[in-house]
Amino acid sequence: MFCKNCGQQVEDNVESCPNCGAKVKEDTFAQNTQTYTNQNQPMQQPVQKGTNGFAIAGFIFALLGGLLGLIFSIIGLVQAKKENSPKGLAIAGLVISCIWIVIYIFYFALFSALLDPLSNY
Ligand SMILES: [Zn+2]
Repeated sequence: MFCKNCGQQVEDNVESCPNCGAKVKEDTFAQNTQTYTNQNQPMQQPVQKGTNGFAIAGFIFALLGGLLGLIFSIIGLVQAKKENSPKGLAIAGLVISCIWIVIYIFYFALFSALLDPLSNY
């Protein structure tokens, strides 16, 4: 290896440079710890979690229509918040369920309005 102070080639087992007297071993030790921490850094990154089962089920049930979609989407959204996993599918299921509920209310109102005059007879 080479001395960091003067650039002179020195033997690996010497503690200090025979040319300038600067400590050589300390430098190599610092370099080793630096590479060690660099290698450890990718391990500390959080693991990306996938969408949870409740959100997927909620989305599918929401597409079919009905209260199950709403229930599963709410559970999926709560689960996603706890696990810090993607919420997109749970929110989509919730929105679709809300659209279905609006359609149900609209049809119920429409049918009750149509059936009301008939019930008088
Ligand atoms: Zn030196």
